[in-house]
Amino acid sequence: MKVKKTKPIRFDILTIFPKIFDSYFGESLFKRAVIAGLVQIVFHDLRQFSLNRHKKVDDTPFGGGPGMVMQVEPIYGALEEIKKKNSKKKKRIILFSTRGKKLNASIAKRLAGYDQLVLICGRYEGVDERVAENLADEEISIGDYVLSGGELPAMVLVEAVSRFVPGFLGKYESLEEVKGSYAVYTKPEVFKPTKGKGWKVPKVLLSGNHKKIAEWRKDNSSST
Ligand code: SAH
Repeated sequence: MKVKKTKPIRFDILTIFPKIFDSYFGESLFKRAVIAGLVQIVFHDLRQFSLNRHKKVDDTPFGGGPGMVMQVEPIYGALEEIKKKNSKKKKRIILFSTRGKKLNASIAKRLAGYDQLVLICGRYEGVDERVAENLADEEISIGDYVLSGGELPAMVLVEAVSRFVPGFLGKYESLEEVKGSYAVYTKPEVFKPTKGKGWKVPKVLLSGNHKKIAEWRKDNSSST
């Protein structure tokens, strides 16, 4: 497979829980992509940028109300260091927020065009709004539900974006295939559950008729 991209896409993840990412990014596709130099993932522990001697990164909300809010300072500090040390030409700073644009394939594809994506993971009741107002280029949500933090959204975004990086999917899948997804079956042709009739594979897929198979897949697909 021809791989056009020579510079890896770099993800900088700002979080208070960097260890959450170890098992997922240590496996399979990511390990291979990192080794192949297609993807680079760097973590920034926000506690190290705390100005507080107890390494606090949150405080109570102005105006009252429950919970704690993530402060601007550690995020500002981490972003300044990234800017100083390893700023790439085409960089985009993303804040995960329940109020952000909902992530989809076309956003993922657009983001894959950047050299560097900086991902800010919120926690607690959210992030001081001045981060969205002054530091982030855009806010992204991964769906209409509330999670405890931006770490799962960061993993989702890194994977969704990486699939658009040429070479990431390897030789078995091509980028063209990412455009849609169709129903798939594999051996055996008939699966026999303990009770009742066997579960069959649609006949057309066993026919060897490529035109008919293509039509069937089109009818049983969803495009992203
Ligand atoms: N009270 C807040 C929820 C904060 S959840 C609200 O209603 O918006 C804490 C953090 O988790 C958020 O700051 C955000 O960074 C992240 N988060 C939670 N759910 C998310 C989602 N669906 N998409 C993206 N980020 C999310």
